[in-house]
Amino acid sequence: MGRVLLAAVAAGSTLGAAPGPARVDLLIRGGTIYAGFDAPFFGDVAISGDRIRAVGPHLAFTAGRVIDAGGMIVAPGFIDPHTHVGDQLVSGDSAKRLIPGFLLQGVTTAFIGNDGGGDPDVGKVLSRARARPVGINYAAFVGFGAIRERVIGEQDRAPSSAELKRMQAMVASGMCQGALGLSTGLFYAPQSFAKTDEVVALAREAGIRGGVYDSHIRDESSYTIGLAAAVDEAIAIGREGGLPAHISHIKALGVDVQGQAPAIIAKIELARASGQNVTADQYPWSASGTSLVASLIPLWAQDGGRPALLKRLDNPALTDRLREGILENLRRRGGAAKLLLVQGKYANRTLDQVARKLGQDPVSAAISVIRVQDPRVVSFNQSEQDIAAFMRRPWVMTSSDASGGHPRVYGSFARKYRQYVASEHVLTLREFVERSSSLTADTFGIEGRGRLRPGTYADIVVFDPKRYAERATYERPTLAARGVRFVLVNGALAVDGGKLTGLAAGRALKHRPTPGSCR
Ligand SMILES: [Zn+2]
Repeated sequence: MGRVLLAAVAAGSTLGAAPGPARVDLLIRGGTIYAGFDAPFFGDVAISGDRIRAVGPHLAFTAGRVIDAGGMIVAPGFIDPHTHVGDQLVSGDSAKRLIPGFLLQGVTTAFIGNDGGGDPDVGKVLSRARARPVGINYAAFVGFGAIRERVIGEQDRAPSSAELKRMQAMVASGMCQGALGLSTGLFYAPQSFAKTDEVVALAREAGIRGGVYDSHIRDESSYTIGLAAAVDEAIAIGREGGLPAHISHIKALGVDVQGQAPAIIAKIELARASGQNVTADQYPWSASGTSLVASLIPLWAQDGGRPALLKRLDNPALTDRLREGILENLRRRGGAAKLLLVQGKYANRTLDQVARKLGQDPVSAAISVIRVQDPRVVSFNQSEQDIAAFMRRPWVMTSSDASGGHPRVYGSFARKYRQYVASEHVLTLREFVERSSSLTADTFGIEGRGRLRPGTYADIVVFDPKRYAERATYERPTLAARGVRFVLVNGALAVDGGKLTGLAAGRALKHRPTPGSCR
């Protein structure tokens, strides 16, 4: 608290030399300030242009606009390190580019290009915001998947040494254009074809330039190498690549690995104790979002896409093998009652309910539905104990993994507050704020954001602690959160009195590569 007070008094007294109190553009008065560091206190925030001028109790400023924050929490705008809003940010629809579902939760910065999906042309990605204004700030990863597809295609083989050099050059160039680091999604083909050594060789290029290795790990469940070995691999890539390793949306997915959170935490904390920088992010939902085919149909039967799958469904010679594979995936995901269809004819019914309605067993019901379409499903596959265990660790930050058909787009930060802070006390409010702002900014090198203090960018959320909550549900995933009163993005009011203003004040954030690492 001492540091905040000193800074505020210094700013106030210097300016006090002019006749009368100094003037700022905006004054947020009388809120409880969680600055992203230190203990909370009662006070004001003064904003001039796009920056915070002062933070402290009873600031002596006059202002063009005074916001009464009585009874409210004032915090740094939240930073979401794992999203899939890249397409929305470049959409032709200016209202979509505001990312309203994020603003109405107080999220002012999102990372894009996760899971290995980032465009290697990071310069282009970051320059788009100039022509098409966006509602929130964004920063980008350079993605392994996109690079491997360009250089090797979809094939299951190792790169030649010339191909490896080309991929390394693409990572280096993405980093020099401002990428946060290298993202991978080793679970997904063709990234899954890469051996650990290949990934290390590319991660090293990001590390030399100050980047982070950000990974949707090879297995979050029991599909291939298993959760524990996949975490070991991510840690090894960080260690051998010489860069921080960050595990995306950490979880123990499915009945085979439920209960493993303590063992996974122990692995990560052992690496941290040895001096390695290993972190993770997490979305606060027990269900993941996918499609019925992706969740149940064995990989061999998906080869060749939907037409080939439909042919296999009609081939009596394959029936037994196919049914066995579906049954195994159902078991892994906890049974037919744990799969909720959220699209199509059977929207808002579990596969179990669909089966009863059709008078079939769950495997036959799944096949009947898939013959007609491939609806989105939410798959309830994590235990609340594992979710809480991961959440308590000081190196786990808040994320959304925002993508369609799942309430995590509109509700992740608000839900984490309502359920895990206000209702279940898994975290304190201060922990929630810091792990949704400063921890994320520090981990990924986001400069001048994530804390409320003089000189930082004015990305600020003002929310009502009695009302802040998600409204989105699995059945109605696009309901906006409630309880956020004001949101500033670079000093501009994006949410005013609980309503979107339509101001698109977001910026592309360019990560600064290590000096001398780009020529
Ligand atoms: Zn992912």
